[in-house]
Amino acid sequence: MHNDIDRDLYEILGVPRGASQADIKAAYRKRAREVHPDVAHDDPDGEHKFKELTFAYEVLSDAQRRREYDAYGLEGLRRGAGIDFDGFSSISDLFDIFFGGGFRDPFSRGPSRPGKVRGRDMEMLITVTLGEVVTGTEKEIEVGRRATCEDCDGTGLMPGTHMSTCDACGGAGQVRTTRRSLLGTMVSAQTCAKCGGAGQLITEPCAACGGSGLASVTEKIQVSVPPGIERGDRLRVRGKGEGGVRGGATGDLYVVVDVEPHPGFERSGTDLFTSVKVDMVEAALGTSVEMESLDGDFLLKVPSGTQPGDVVKAKGKGLPPRYGGRRGDILVRVDVSVPRKVSSEQKKHLQSYLEARKEKVGK
Ligand SMILES: [Zn+2]
Ligand SMILES: [Zn+2]
Repeated sequence: MHNDIDRDLYEILGVPRGASQADIKAAYRKRAREVHPDVAHDDPDGEHKFKELTFAYEVLSDAQRRREYDAYGLEGLRRGAGIDFDGFSSISDLFDIFFGGGFRDPFSRGPSRPGKVRGRDMEMLITVTLGEVVTGTEKEIEVGRRATCEDCDGTGLMPGTHMSTCDACGGAGQVRTTRRSLLGTMVSAQTCAKCGGAGQLITEPCAACGGSGLASVTEKIQVSVPPGIERGDRLRVRGKGEGGVRGGATGDLYVVVDVEPHPGFERSGTDLFTSVKVDMVEAALGTSVEMESLDGDFLLKVPSGTQPGDVVKAKGKGLPPRYGGRRGDILVRVDVSVPRKVSSEQKKHLQSYLEARKEKVGK
């Protein structure tokens, strides 16, 4: 059991009382290298020493805490933080109260650092035509988004200023109340309402973003739509979502694709459906019909003897698949039209056709 609550924090760091911030930081770095638990494995007191050192550094490197400590010693910190730490006998215990359990290397910018927030993903809808599904396309879209503020680089801080330790929780992010009872030491913890658990506060917010770390921008973004895209497909544009704050990554933009209906074609995967009208005689004799596809005209061969409702396939005139392979087909339903009126000339021909057919059947 360590009983060092009365140890002087300047003494722990090995600096004089009037030491500058730079001296304090340098002293901490030097001592931390010696007592860091990753280095001093064999020292049974390593953790204790490291916490004690880190506690001293965290207090003395924070201007407000340092003033409290200079004026009133540890009692000043207790009052500033609103924490009741009666009954703790060592400075490394205080480290746990102030900065949470476990180690937190003040020089690390790792993910454990509070407040790092990845920007949210965003979604936008674009519409393409069926023709653009064949070729693929580049779309320029205008996106209004909240991007990482350039003035403060997403920190929310007025340039040149720093976060200060939350005075409500003393930087722990939690407000703990500790009291001794007959059952032992009772500790209750709640997320600090003032800092939202971050343990730090912005005292001088960035003027450009008001401290949010995000600023509204309107940006033109190029979206590359590949051939074969289907309705409802989502294209990811990396890093074009909402900006990250305090070093968090920027979110992504998801572009959701809608495909405009086409008056001439119905789509089913890579195939297109359409229909064509041919005269009954053309259906009987066979014919070629000039037709439109999505990328140019072509001749559809309607074979002789085509029945009403038969489907004729134009191979490879459909849509390309999204992930490579052969193009689909255009499937043409043949509507056979029967003349409503026939001239006397036409009547004569049709009659003789009928005669010839009867003779054939009669034989
Ligand atoms: Zn800003
Ligand atoms: Zn707080």
